[in-house]
Amino acid sequence: MKVSVDQNLCYGSWDCVHRVPSVFTVVDGYGAVVPGREGAGDDPRVRAAAEGCPSQAIVITDGRAAEPGK
Ligand code: SF4
Repeated sequence: MKVSVDQNLCYGSWDCVHRVPSVFTVVDGYGAVVPGREGAGDDPRVRAAAEGCPSQAIVITDGRAAEPGK
């Protein structure tokens, strides 16, 4: 499963970074996925971070829906 952060929704609370620093980081004040960790959506801690994100900005998908034209 793929994980990403919708930076239009994120307001930079850092909750996800504190929960799973190996997967989430902060770029320009907003949450982001650490490069190379985009496939970490199956990690229960990542799912918990998504559920705990106060702005619902963390998106977990199967990786197909995000590909245009598919
Ligand atoms: S927990 Fe949500 S709002 Fe907070 S930094 Fe992470 S993605 Fe952004």
